[in-house]
Amino acid sequence: MASVRLENVHKTYPNGHVAARGLDLEIEDGELLVFVGPSGCGKSTALRMIAGLETPSSGRVCIGDRECTELPPQDRDIAMVFQSYALYPHKTIRENLAFGLRMRGTGKDEMEQRVDRAAGALGLEEFLERKPGQLSGGQRQRVALGRAIVREPQAFLFDEPLSNLDAKLRVQTRAELSRMHRRLGATMVYVTHDQEEAMTLGTRVAVMHEGIFQQVAPPMEVYRRPANRFVGGFVGSPAMNFFECQLTEEDGKPRLATGELSVSLEPGDWLGEAGNAVILGVRPHDIELVATEVADVPARVDVIEPLGSEMLIHLQVGTVEEGQAVRAVIPPEAQASVDDAVGLRFRRDRLHIFHSESERRLN
Ligand code: ADP
Ligand code: MG
Repeated sequence: MASVRLENVHKTYPNGHVAARGLDLEIEDGELLVFVGPSGCGKSTALRMIAGLETPSSGRVCIGDRECTELPPQDRDIAMVFQSYALYPHKTIRENLAFGLRMRGTGKDEMEQRVDRAAGALGLEEFLERKPGQLSGGQRQRVALGRAIVREPQAFLFDEPLSNLDAKLRVQTRAELSRMHRRLGATMVYVTHDQEEAMTLGTRVAVMHEGIFQQVAPPMEVYRRPANRFVGGFVGSPAMNFFECQLTEEDGKPRLATGELSVSLEPGDWLGEAGNAVILGVRPHDIELVATEVADVPARVDVIEPLGSEMLIHLQVGTVEEGQAVRAVIPPEAQASVDDAVGLRFRRDRLHIFHSESERRLN
């Protein structure tokens, strides 16, 4: 296994589209790093440059201690697993697993050993003599993984490998992939647009937007301390609420205010000068329903969605002229009815404050 490094990688496609703008990243040996971001943000482009399926316009790609920016895919010693797992339908699973090795002229004993090892790692032993048509979607996906594993590459690359599977199977296969990663101790780079998949799989996640890594950090750090407004809004479900506020002062203490919203901070929380415009981010899980007298902002209950373990409520707050929609997640036993006038209070240790122009985190 090996580390993978991107050094100031740019990619402009021949039609002028810029898909990567200065990617810098070291993926450590044995790490499972996830590229996550909305469709079109450049995830596949970044992965394909690691694979050698695209060439950077500038910058370097290194695998282990070898530079391979211009090297063709077959000379890079990496394995890529795609969303569509084209298996040979008339060959058995054993033959499907062995096929790539046979083509490379691997000896018979070595080939058998590797196939058995991969089948063992993936729990495919009992399916080896079957044909792909006799396997479920999830099992076929495992065979596709097995085909990559038998090659014993320096690194595995995955481009949305689970997006063809239904929700339940996706969660199962995701857990399997996670176990497999631990067992193999392999370097893996995994692309997904699904932030939940990224959070559950990654040892670190690289949140991508418009061809730039916005933040590269362990999942919980990305969730707790998003580096900018984009990351705050992209990671976490339901999505973070945002309020465009002014930093003001009251009794020597900083305060965030807009319309009827007024959030007092501690004296140590000055994040700039009074009068500065900032964006306040609050996750739905960090909002409490309280009496209006002690609230940070009054609101009106719009829609209530009981989710069993918790309740998602949609509210309208009267900031500025028009109302603003806010979502809160509260305990299922909380008393609330549609059209109630309620007060919202934001957990002070969970506020996210961003610069209004650069949108970078301030606190
Ligand atoms: P993602 O995988 O995050 O959805 P991609 O890396 O596939 O994004 O694409 C990033 C951007 O580059 C998109 O806007 C896409 O349309 C564009 N793009 C991808 N491949 C090509 C290509 N071969 N030629 C021109 N533009 C491309
Ligand atoms: Mg893609």
